[in-house]
Amino acid sequence: MLRIILELMLLTNHSLTGVVLGLTVDDPAILVPAAIGSHLILDATPHFGIPKLNFRRPKGFIIGSVDFGISLCVLIIAIIAFPGRRGLVALGWLGAVSPDLLYLPEIFLKKRISGKFGDFHSWIQWSETIWPGVLTDAAWGILMIVVILERLGSCYT
Ligand SMILES: [Zn+2]
Repeated sequence: MLRIILELMLLTNHSLTGVVLGLTVDDPAILVPAAIGSHLILDATPHFGIPKLNFRRPKGFIIGSVDFGISLCVLIIAIIAFPGRRGLVALGWLGAVSPDLLYLPEIFLKKRISGKFGDFHSWIQWSETIWPGVLTDAAWGILMIVVILERLGSCYT
């Protein structure tokens, strides 16, 4: 059975976290596993989710598309804002969002490629709620934005 419900933390928060890691970790061999690990840790913490929201239905598709669009904007803005670290920022972003990208074949092709990793990825998301999930996601997102802005400020002082 396809599991295409919104059973994932907002991609935007994973993106912000990946950017912070890209701004922090210099070695790609450490950055990529750390970014993937950050995704799994965030998914395993209480976070936002709408029960039974299906990405292949209009409401779920719109929410997922907006979230993905914001995530891409986060990447583009970070690459422009931190030109000296653009490769690491892109790598951190990609690592941090990659587990959720495995859902794309399910959404668009009705083909599940995530296998046992997909089972694990779903299993760790034990606590998805609208409330208080939106609060924990907002708190994490704000924290990541503050860190990014702090890094931006230190670039120009
Ligand atoms: Zn996920």
